[in-house]
Amino acid sequence: MGDTLWERAQRVLPGGVNSPVRSFRGVDGQPFFADRGEGPYLISEDGTPYIDYVMGYGPLILGHAHPAVVDAVERQAARGIGYGVPTRREVEMAEFLTHHIPGLDMVRLVNSGTEATMTALRIARAATGRPRVVKFAGSYHGHHDSLLIKAGSGAATLGVPDSAGVPSEIAALTITVPYNDVEALEDAFRQYGSEIAAVIAEPVAGNMGTVVPDEDFLPAIRSITERYGALWISDEVMTGFRVGLGTVASQRGLTPDLVTLAKVIGAGMPVGAYGGKREYLSLVAPAGPVYQAGTFSGNPIATAAGLAQLHEVVQPDFYSVLVMRTEQLAKGLVERARRHNIPVSVHQAGAMFTLFFRDTPPRNFDEVNRSDTEGYRRYFHLMLERGVFMPPSPFESVFVSSRHDAEVIEKTLAVAEEVFQKL
Ligand SMILES: *Cc1c(COP(=O)(O)O)cnc(C)c1O
Repeated sequence: MGDTLWERAQRVLPGGVNSPVRSFRGVDGQPFFADRGEGPYLISEDGTPYIDYVMGYGPLILGHAHPAVVDAVERQAARGIGYGVPTRREVEMAEFLTHHIPGLDMVRLVNSGTEATMTALRIARAATGRPRVVKFAGSYHGHHDSLLIKAGSGAATLGVPDSAGVPSEIAALTITVPYNDVEALEDAFRQYGSEIAAVIAEPVAGNMGTVVPDEDFLPAIRSITERYGALWISDEVMTGFRVGLGTVASQRGLTPDLVTLAKVIGAGMPVGAYGGKREYLSLVAPAGPVYQAGTFSGNPIATAAGLAQLHEVVQPDFYSVLVMRTEQLAKGLVERARRHNIPVSVHQAGAMFTLFFRDTPPRNFDEVNRSDTEGYRRYFHLMLERGVFMPPSPFESVFVSSRHDAEVIEKTLAVAEEVFQKL
């Protein structure tokens, strides 16, 4: 092997990357390496600018290197990178989140979405004394053992591991149910209700592509869990402050027992959080018996970046403009594809969406899988060759930032027009 960066990477990193989604085939059959980001652009090592719709997989809602975030990070770095004692901004961050998310009484800051969902399950199990949890097929909640579970084929199925190294005994405690299937959820509870600690759900699915919930889906999760004494964990790691201000659940007037957050609240720094009702958060050490800790939790640079970004998103009209631009792009793509007789559909939720290569929007993972994924891949490559970085996988969401202005969107649509003509 030679000495290109990709060849060197493959010698010393598993698969050449630090997270599997990054190992896509780019223009020359390998991923491009980022040199820097500027607003809506990601610039590669070889100097090629890409209009970026991956945006760090969600966190960068202000685009790359927003001056307010950069300034906050620089100022904090000069004062110290980590302390190991409490800081003012941890309190401010917790106050911000509890203020903007009705029903969120307390939060604990952690370092990733995975940590947040892992601990939320632990709290639910401690609070209920029950072992089982329910998740929905096609959802992603991080890479810990309890949630790395294969999609079942039937209605409600006991889980099997979706990764080598996950004990089947642990996987069997996770029940999978199809997304948007209230009847299957009822079935799972009829069968195992007294053993189920929690239902964890993406309130808008984002990790099988964007799939919006049916009108009755989230209210049904709330009422069924309540009826059986289980907790509802709303995993808003992707959707929190992305679909709109606060969480999807709070926007819909619903109160989950626990909420998990990450991505946008960290502005690109490794940040996660879980929060919820006081009775459950009071179970967490040192206040209570559920152990969870972290050397870097509430890191001063991470909270500086997160608060700087959150300060921008609460400005008047921030989301209305952002969502309008997102809609302009989503609708524009659909229009252009259909003009060239390519069957596509779209689900949009706030500043995220997925263009599905099928003629009707999917309601669950089975339907997502019944789309033309090969067509999507060709679209991805043709867009990339023309300087637009769309999500490499048909099962990811497009993320728009406030730096994607009308001109950038128009430029993207002009490229798409060319691409759909070739498909
Ligand atoms: C990204 C994501 C996670 C995992 O977060 P990490 O910070 O990557 O560990 C969990 N849940 C959802 C809904 C996500 O989108």
